Amino acid sequence: MSTEHVIQPKSSLQPRSVEGRFRNIKTGILVLAYAVFFLLPWIRWERAVGPDQAILFDIPGRRYYMFDLVMHAQDIFWLTALLFLAAVLLFFVTTLFGRVFCGYFCFQTLWTDAFRLIERFIQGDRVARLRLDKQPWNMEKIRKVGLTHGLWLFLAMWTGLSFALYWGDAFTLTGQFFTGNAPSALYGTVIILMTTTYLTAGWAKEYVCLHMCPYSRFQSVMFDQDTMIVSYDMNRGEGKTGRVKPIKELRDQATRQAQGHGDCVDCGLCVQVCPTGIDIREGLQIGCIHCALCIDACDGIMDKQGWKRGLVRYTSEHGLEGKKTKILKLRTVGYGLATLLAAIYLVWSIASSKLLEVTAVQIRSPLYVTMSDGRIQNSYEVKINNKTMEAARYSLAIENLPNAEMELQINDLSLKPDSTMRVLAKIRYTKQPGEHGANRDFQFKLTPLEGKVTEPVIIPSHFMTP
Ligand code: SF4
Ligand code: SF4
Repeated sequence: MSTEHVIQPKSSLQPRSVEGRFRNIKTGILVLAYAVFFLLPWIRWERAVGPDQAILFDIPGRRYYMFDLVMHAQDIFWLTALLFLAAVLLFFVTTLFGRVFCGYFCFQTLWTDAFRLIERFIQGDRVARLRLDKQPWNMEKIRKVGLTHGLWLFLAMWTGLSFALYWGDAFTLTGQFFTGNAPSALYGTVIILMTTTYLTAGWAKEYVCLHMCPYSRFQSVMFDQDTMIVSYDMNRGEGKTGRVKPIKELRDQATRQAQGHGDCVDCGLCVQVCPTGIDIREGLQIGCIHCALCIDACDGIMDKQGWKRGLVRYTSEHGLEGKKTKILKLRTVGYGLATLLAAIYLVWSIASSKLLEVTAVQIRSPLYVTMSDGRIQNSYEVKINNKTMEAARYSLAIENLPNAEMELQINDLSLKPDSTMRVLAKIRYTKQPGEHGANRDFQFKLTPLEGKVTEPVIIPSHFMTP
């Protein structure tokens, strides 16, 4: 893999627009990703209790709402599982299709793509932009460049604000933001995200992929000779005597082949459309984000020539050598299995999460009290967490501790939907004549009387005596 283009990216890269199936896929993913990111905070969702925003990360309330799923602070390990799932899925896809994540799904790619669309809309395509770059500053240039940067800043600002709307009520925050009444944290978040978006998508663009992104550094270790990558078919393109332009006497494929020339007509279109400014004909390079726009460009040229498509195409090194591409490799199967297991675990964990959580913690200072009538008293803090969206009522009892009675600080164990209660339980035990060292295991039993959960919960505990 060549690193030449990592060291020397083009100083003023003005990629040309291209039409084709991969460009259509990229545009489709861009529209979908933007629709999801910008619209989700505005979707309302009816709940018996809690906010009516479909997706909300409520930090002060320690609740994370995703449609009907309500996550509590103790469910944070789901996030860890989700990150692990995302990582192994990325590895799995990379071993199969190279850097498709970079080319189609990465935030940097999506936002740079949108910024370039704005630039093209205002300033025109590659040739017009190159001309504008070179021309001296006049009213036309000030207007076009000013409008481009104005729209970039607006999109960057809206990106920062949209991100912030996931952390509070979208309508309230937006109203506060534009009337100057928002918390300073909101303004700070929007300014930071707006600045970074504007700089990375508007100015740094491909430099982020080439110089800043760590993923491009270690992706090569996940590639092997069967990984599907965007490749130039050197044998077909160069022939025996190299590529040549389709000058008058070399327009016909048969004549070219007779003279040893390949199918590459050296139009340079594959280089002009490349968002990272590299020449795929020089082989796999670290700067290639596998967006496949060069495939669209070259397919268009092949169509015009009336030749077979695929001079630049998705294929593996083995495929280029005429060998069979092996999809099922040990590494791919391993990553695939890890992805599947992580997904199953996450779904199972969410589906089987308890809607009623109860803990009983013994108060340890003092561990026990000997009362004036000789009974031994232990105290416990019982915490009941009703995670359902319905009100509930419970009764609490003890089991397997004969000669003991329990006194509760609160007798009415009623909980609102999605709420928690702590209750002090004092257990007094009467020692039997001749009984010594009667430390005992016993259980609290919480029985639901009303509410969504009907199964009793048993909490093992321990009683201490002198
Ligand atoms: S070489 Fe082709 S696939 Fe790679 S970044 Fe450039 S246009 Fe995209
Ligand atoms: S687009 Fe195709 S024909 Fe044109 S230079 Fe690139 S590889 Fe050669």
